[in-house]
Formats: sequence, structure tokens, C-alpha cells
Amino acid sequence: MKILLATGNKHKFEEITAILPRQTKTGEKLEYVSLADIGGIRLPEETGTTLEENARLKARYAAQASGLLAISDDTGLEVEFLDGRPGVHTARYAGEHADADDNNRKLLDELEGLFLGKRAAQFRTVACIAAPDGKTTCHEGTLDGFIGFGYRGENGFGYDPIFIVKGTRQTLAEMTSEQKNKISHRAQAFKKVADFLNNLPC
Ligand code: IMP
Repeated sequence: MKILLATGNKHKFEEITAILPRQTKTGEKLEYVSLADIGGIRLPEETGTTLEENARLKARYAAQASGLLAISDDTGLEVEFLDGRPGVHTARYAGEHADADDNNRKLLDELEGLFLGKRAAQFRTVACIAAPDGKTTCHEGTLDGFIGFGYRGENGFGYDPIFIVKGTRQTLAEMTSEQKNKISHRAQAFKKVADFLNNLPC
């Protein structure tokens, strides 16, 4: 069975397929393709007000357009002191054309003067699997931590240099990709997707 991972990002495709099974429990082979592999599908704008709405929207669209089982995800950083912001606005927190540095600086500015206990945050990923008939199932993964006081570490992307993982003294950017991929919000969500695929009644 061919399964579409509705992402155009090659790095994300590889990170996710490393977690997903190559066959179901009943022995049905599973093959993963990306949007780039099948061509011609442009995902809809993320107009939802929650991560789940956005992930569901993209997975359903991709499944209907391709005729394949399709998987899509959406991730947000939720800061407790900011009532869950940036949330669905995580990618463009500092504006439409903002880059990671702009986003990180905006967040650090907003938390200026707060001690570590007031800087709790979590990454949350929602991953949805949609069938061409519209039936959709979603799974969630989270990673708890704190927003640091500045940048630390060179690895990763996005908010990694300012996100200190709970129970460690390290930011995600100070971890290797192997360490991060074991604990990350995305990995937690996709382990549940892997379970779902394992149990597909083919
Ligand atoms: P997406 O839904 O995976 O595209 O993620 C939305 C935004 O969340 C990205 O543009 C990043 O700013 C941020 N983000 C997602 N995952 C991570 C991560 O693992 N580390 C740091 N930032 C992330």
C-alpha cells in the first residue's frame, strides 16, 4: 500500500519515515511517498484555529486529491505565561516574513524578566491520517520544557536554541539529532501513527 506523507520538506520526510513501519502486522507492505514524488498537489492554507484543524485539513485534502491514505502534521510551541501562544502561529510568530531568529527574539522579549519557573512551554505535534473517503484519525505528541534566557546550541532549527528540555540542562539545539528524535513531540506523535499503521486491517 502506498501512503502519502503530505510534506514537501525532504528532511521531515526522512525523519518521519524512519519511525514508520515498512509493513503491517498482517504482512501488507507499506511504501511512503512525498508530495514531491507524486507532483501536482498544493496543500491548502493553514486556516484552522487549532493544530488539529490544520493537520486534519491538510491530510484530508491530500488524501482526496491523491486517492491515497495521507498523513499530515502541524506543530506549535505553547508558552504557559502567554496563554498557549504562539500556538498555531508558531511558524510566523513575528510576522508573515519573519525568520526563526525574529520569532525567537520576539518570544525572549515577551518573557523578559521572568524567572525559569514562569517560562514553562511545550511543543505539541498533531499528526492526522486521512483516507480518500474522508475518514480521519489524529494523534498527538508533546515535549515539555522551558524557554531559556538566550540562545544555546548550534543544532536543529526553529525554536530549538531557546527551548530547554524539562529534566535536562540542554536546549534542543544542544542535543544531537539522534537524541532529539528519541524524545521530540514529532517522534511521540508519529510513534502513535506507526502503531495505527501497524494495525491497519488491509
Ligand atoms: P510545522 O507544523 O512542522 O511546519 O512547524 C511549525 C513551526 O513550528 C516551524 O516553522 C518551527 O518554527 C516550529 N517547530 C516545529 N517543530 C520544531 C522543532 O522540533 N524545533 C523547533 N521549532 C519547531
